[in-house]
Amino acid sequence: PPQAALLEFRNVQIVYDNAIEAVRDVSIEVPKGQIVALLGSNGAGKSTLLKAMSGILHTEDGSLDNGSIHFGGEDVSHLAPDTIVRRGLVQVPEGRRIFPALTVEENLVIGGYTTAAAVVRERREQAFTLFPRLAERRHQIAGYMSGGEQQMLAIGRALMAKPALLALDEPSLGLAPLIIDRIYEVIAALRRDFAMTVLLVEQNAQRALQIADAGYILENGRVVLDGPADKLARNQDVQEFYLGLS
Ligand code: ATP
Repeated sequence: PPQAALLEFRNVQIVYDNAIEAVRDVSIEVPKGQIVALLGSNGAGKSTLLKAMSGILHTEDGSLDNGSIHFGGEDVSHLAPDTIVRRGLVQVPEGRRIFPALTVEENLVIGGYTTAAAVVRERREQAFTLFPRLAERRHQIAGYMSGGEQQMLAIGRALMAKPALLALDEPSLGLAPLIIDRIYEVIAALRRDFAMTVLLVEQNAQRALQIADAGYILENGRVVLDGPADKLARNQDVQEFYLGLS
């Protein structure tokens, strides 16, 4: 039988303010060890799905109206955000959300808030190995770093919680092509060297489909297309609307 997905959205319906339907009947499977791309333009509902996954919808008056979210075979739909992180389901939110007034090192330590101090020190050193740039800048105030460095810090901070699955919300947004290359190298390394499963949310379909195993395309809160990444990249509609080819 096929292996159950590590993360699964099952017929998920999400509304904001009891009125605005942001996500309608969405089902997504992220198999263990894979990179799955979640694609779609502005307002399609991508970030909303990640907020639901992390248990923080209510902070924006959103609610899971129907359906459920499963992680490692368990229903996590109604767990508290810190419980979800402790189970290994972690996201790097859109816009990085680092603490600009704190140093690189302090930002990393905060990422380890679910973890014992000795382990935090060990993981911080691992983050510095993965991102030598952060090691060089460990005492720098994070807000003064470049966009690319801040994205690396945001990923490093998420890794402090030792995720089994890392969700990245538009990691390439606003970054120069060379920096995007570096971020994507890191994403590839996370799977290869850390056996991590990745949910990659992107508007940049071209980049995402190059690295992903499978993809889902979201429009107006619905999945309109899904399948293996290479097949999606060859799809005519995808080429026309999302890859700027045709
Ligand atoms: P983007 O790339 O712009 O973040 P997205 O695909 O992540 O796009 P969402 O941010 O999930 O899209 O938004 C989905 C829909 O829900 C949109 O119609 C948006 O206006 C609406 N929405 C998002 N957040 C809220 C909120 N806090 N309150 C009300 N409506 C919201």
